[in-house]
This record gives sequence, structure tokens and C-alpha cells, in this order.
Amino acid sequence: MILLLMVEDDDAAAELTLRALNSSGLPCACDRVVNEVEFRRALDCGPDLILSDSNVPGFDGFAALSIAKGERPGTPFIFVCGLLDEAVARRALKAGAADYVAKSQLDRLAPAVRSALDSGHGRLRRTSDRGQPPVGALDPNDTAAHLLERRDTLDRTLRPRDDSTLSAVLSRTPPIPVALVMLRSNSALERYVKVLNNAEIEIEVVHDSRDAIGRLAERTHAVMFTDQLDLVREARQLEMGSATHIVFIDRSDTAGPSDALRAGANEIVPADARGERFWAHMTIVRRLVSFAASLQSAITGNRILSTIDELTRCGNRRFFEQQFPREVARAMRFRRPLSLLMCDIDHFKAVNDRNGHQTGDEVLREFGERLTHGLRLGQDWAARIGGEEFAIVLPETGQSEAVAIAQRLCERVSASAFITSGAAISVTASFGACGVQSPTSEWTGLPEKMVLAADSALYESKRAGRNRVTDGTTKIGA
Ligand code: GH3
Ligand code: MG
Ligand code: MG
Repeated sequence: MILLLMVEDDDAAAELTLRALNSSGLPCACDRVVNEVEFRRALDCGPDLILSDSNVPGFDGFAALSIAKGERPGTPFIFVCGLLDEAVARRALKAGAADYVAKSQLDRLAPAVRSALDSGHGRLRRTSDRGQPPVGALDPNDTAAHLLERRDTLDRTLRPRDDSTLSAVLSRTPPIPVALVMLRSNSALERYVKVLNNAEIEIEVVHDSRDAIGRLAERTHAVMFTDQLDLVREARQLEMGSATHIVFIDRSDTAGPSDALRAGANEIVPADARGERFWAHMTIVRRLVSFAASLQSAITGNRILSTIDELTRCGNRRFFEQQFPREVARAMRFRRPLSLLMCDIDHFKAVNDRNGHQTGDEVLREFGERLTHGLRLGQDWAARIGGEEFAIVLPETGQSEAVAIAQRLCERVSASAFITSGAAISVTASFGACGVQSPTSEWTGLPEKMVLAADSALYESKRAGRNRVTDGTTKIGA
């Protein structure tokens, strides 16, 4: 249970925030305050986390931040604001906030909270030895949190502006479309659930509009059935809700068809529609849902094709170029360690020349497997950035640990022959490493510098006789 201190004057926003955390496996005991006196009193209780609106009448998020930094400097402070305002976000981060999340993007909140809490407890974790099982493996709560985080990441692959990780894009299962049903009228509810039960669709039934908004903010729904006009309007304010086909069930005592269309409904079905007319509406809905499903599956498929290397199932060069700067930015933001390894198979041309390109491919495939096998699932990742050249990214890992990992990988490659369909082939590889311990945002051009440093260390390994690891950390900035 997280002891949460929340600065928020709006009941609905507070509830949505708590729901977003709860549904992501972050249950909170919340102390909500709206002024400085209450805030100072609540700070004395030693919260684990502070969430604050930027502007509460009579109190101000920046004032709260400055008090919190003075009184409880170690407690992560995250702004949860109505609008995504770049300037305010920059100011917030500069003033020491751990993150800045817009209320329209509450799906970002749980990952932000996890990162903030993780980096707060980082000092405990850093002492863990890479040779031993990760701390998380021993703690069921941590393991559960890790699994939930992975599920979150998988969910996010469907969102157009996501931070997809490699493990997420590797999931090939196209998602089943989801229908959200929020109907006040019981007879309508019964009827629509019955119709949907016969379709290949997951049904979520909720009983109030707030709950519905929470669900819509969590993930993409192919369709929503509702008889609540306000819900239609609110759903259209949400980023995730904008992709949802909204069917308004019109009980003529509530609103007229034009009101519903203006509010953002795509379709209006009179509550008393029967027979042919009703089924005509349902046919349109079914077509749209199946269209949404194939679109989602195409998006997932495209994302897989565009980011992974088909031969080795590691990330491809494009994935590396997109994702590595993000890893660096994250490390700088939280001043966390990060390492990069570069490796290249030795004399690979000779492997091809002697055994053929096909066998060379088999070696490459197993090489990718040997590399990724020793990495932490969902955290470390490898990408094939050239023919027989790979990059390995190790978040939360400093220089000396990274060199030890590279050493282990190097030994794993040379320890036993690669069994291909044609022959058993002995292979070695050369490595270059580069790690930073506590990078800050002032380190400009760090992604490029780390790549250059690891790359030139790799070539030093080649020059020195191959099958070895060279630490290039000191080359950063050289
Ligand atoms: P070094 O130890 O200096 O790295 O020598 P090398 O022979 O590994 O390096 P070089 O760059 O001369 O040759 C790389 C070879 O990798 C050339 C090319 O035939 C092979 N190669 C690149 N991509 C693929 C691929 O997708 N499949 C196969 N089978 N071979 C590939
Ligand atoms: Mg090579
Ligand atoms: Mg090469």
C-alpha cells in the first residue's frame, strides 16, 4: 500500500487518479489536501509519494513542491495537471518534480509513479549483485509489480504515441476488441449484453459514468454503448476515447438525436428499435468492430516488422536508434546508471565463406539467442545494428557491472560450438563497453557519445586480438 499525499481540489479528478493507480496494481491510502496548512500536516506523516495539481484555488503546486523539497526531499513529487503544458512541465522538472502527467493521459501515471518510487529506493537495489538472482525474483510483490508493468507495456502497443519496448512489440497476439457498456436502463443492458455475447468481443459492463471514463482512459475500446449523454461528451475529451465508436441508445426522454451527434456519438439507436431496424444497426456495429480489430492487428504487425530483426528476433537498427536515446533520457532524468555494450562476431566472413550464407544465418540466430539469454527480461535488450554487430542496452547498470556482463557474454559465445544443420562451428566475438553512473541533463549528446565510446572500445578489442572485452567508458567526451 502506497501512502499517497494528493493536492487536488476536484473530486472527480482525485477519484480518476486513484482509480488509474489502483487498476495498475498500485493501491494507495490517500490523504487529499487543498491548502498549505493541510499539506504541511500531511507531509509530517511521511508520505511515500506526492501527486499535485499545478493550480489549486488558494494553493499552488509549485509552492507545494518547494515545501516538499525542503521538508521531505526524498519523497517523489509528480504533477498531475489538467493540460499538457510543455513550459509548465519543463519548469516542474527543473524545480525537482519527478514527473509531469496530464489528466488526459492518466495511463502514463502508473509507469511514472513506478519509475519515481523505484529511483527513490534505488540505493537499496544498486547494491544487488548481478551474479545473484535479481532482488525482484525474491519478492513476490515486486514480481507482481513487474508483471503488471509488462502487461501495461503490452497494452500500450496499441496506442499511437507509445513508448513501446522490445518485449512489447514481440507480442504477436492481436488483441480481442473490447466493448464498453454503460446503460442505465436495465432492459437495454440485458439486450445489448445478449447481442454482444454472440460476437467475438470482450464485454466490459460498468454501472456509472466515472467508472466508464476510467476504463476508457485505460485502454482502447472498439465500441461503447451508452444512454448517458454526458458520458459521450466526456469520452470524447479523452485521448483513448477518441478512437472509440460510440453508440448512443436514445431513450427519447433523455436527449434528441442531434444532441447526441453533437456530443460525439457516431450512431444513435432508438431504445425501442426492434426487428429489422435494430439488426441493421447491429450490423453496422459489427462491421466497425471487425474493422477495428483488423486495424489493431495490422498496427501490431507493422510495429513488429518495423522494429524487430526477423532473423535474430532482437531489435533492429531502427529500434535501437529510436529507443536508445529514450533510455539515455530516462537515465539522465532520474540520474540512474546506464550501460551500452557493442559486440561484433569475429571473422564472420570466414564462417560464411567456409559454410555458406545459410549456415552463417543459423549462427547469427543462435548468437542473438546467446546474447539475450543472459539479460534481464523486460529491462535489458539487444538490437542487431549491422550484419553481425549487436548493441546491448543495460538500464540501471553501471560501468563495472556492464564490463562483467560483457565478459560473461563473451565467454558464453566462445564456451561451446554453435550447432547448425550443417556443422558445429566455433565462434568468438569482441565487445566494447561503456557505462555511466549518474548522468545529468547537462551531458549533451550523451547517446551519440556512448555509442562512439562503446564502438571504439569494440575496435580496440579487435585490434588487441579479438574474443575480449574493452571498457571504453573513459572515451565518453574524448
Ligand atoms: P572481424 O573479426 O574484423 O569483425 O571480421 P569479420 O569477417 O567478421 O568482418 P567483416 O566486416 O569483414 O565481415 C562481416 C561479414 O558478415 C560479411 C558478411 O558476409 C557477413 N554478414 C553480414 N550480414 C549477414 C547476414 O545477414 N547473414 C550472413 N550469413 N552473413 C552476414
Ligand atoms: Mg565481424
Ligand atoms: Mg562487422
